[in-house]
Amino acid sequence: MIEIENLSKTYDGRPAVDDVTLTIPSGEIATIVGTSGSGKTTLLRMINRLVEPTAGSIRIDGRDTRDVPPYELRRHIGYAIQGHGLFPHWDVARNIATVPRLLGWDKAKAASRVDELLDLFQLEPDQYRNRMPHELSGGQKQRVGVARALAAGPSVLLMDEPFGALDPIIRAKAQADLVDIQRRLGTTIVLVTHDMDEAIRLGTRIAVMSEGKVLQYASPAEIITHPADDFVEAMLGSGDKAFRLMTLTKVKTVVEPGTAEGQPVDSDLSLRDAYSEMLWSQRDRLPVVSDGKPVGIISRDALDKRAARPQ
Ligand code: ADP
Ligand code: MG
Repeated sequence: MIEIENLSKTYDGRPAVDDVTLTIPSGEIATIVGTSGSGKTTLLRMINRLVEPTAGSIRIDGRDTRDVPPYELRRHIGYAIQGHGLFPHWDVARNIATVPRLLGWDKAKAASRVDELLDLFQLEPDQYRNRMPHELSGGQKQRVGVARALAAGPSVLLMDEPFGALDPIIRAKAQADLVDIQRRLGTTIVLVTHDMDEAIRLGTRIAVMSEGKVLQYASPAEIITHPADDFVEAMLGSGDKAFRLMTLTKVKTVVEPGTAEGQPVDSDLSLRDAYSEMLWSQRDRLPVVSDGKPVGIISRDALDKRAARPQ
């Protein structure tokens, strides 16, 4: 659990982060969303003491971060930044093993960790461990960047606009992979983004920031249905509320009995994904599977009704 209390950072008398208080429970993904210059990066970098707070405190699992030497703090806190931050003259394996090597892991243990992470990120170890960064696509570099941040098995992962440089399709895949990996590893993630859709897609909680302050900290559904003020409402934009809520609801909640033709969808997908699959494949009913087994269908009718009547 990360407890941030009355945290501020002032540069030349101007607050970059202004009296922020929020708690991030273990195993959750908190997204911090706001316009450029709102203080997101400064807030994030105070968590691992890359930036020292002017006032306030941060506790991680009950320990005040001021009592932990920065090097030890960073052993437990992964950090992934926009772009990917890979060292261009090091191969993939050496890049991923950066922190384990700093921690003095022996070679065999570090090498097996590298392969385990490459597997997890769907990069065939034999094919990728000795590639140089320039021999990877943008999406692959980004995955290696996140793998590196996870290499020493941190309980907390800080991510600063990690998907900002990716094109929309690769970005959607990277987001889905992150959620999947987070579920498997149970890592607590704090992710900064300027994109409200990304914040909604990834966050179990969202902090909306403006001018150094957190205006609202709540679940995605709460933010969409009850924005705290005009600024949060504006951040949500004119985007369709019904569609946004469909991002948050899983196919399994609206499965009906029956059978249908064609490629099935998984019951854990969001209604929004199922809806777009229907539109793309021009089907009105999709078979639904759970653990690969058929469990019923999802119908266009049911989704249209939901879209017409958001809660
Ligand atoms: P965001 O990540 O939301 O774009 P930042 O946290 O980077 O915002 O910056 C918040 C504010 O603090 C901005 O006005 C920025 O100019 C200022 N700022 C950030 N870092 C520094 C610094 N090292 N020195 C002076 N001002 C800074
Ligand atoms: Mg920033």
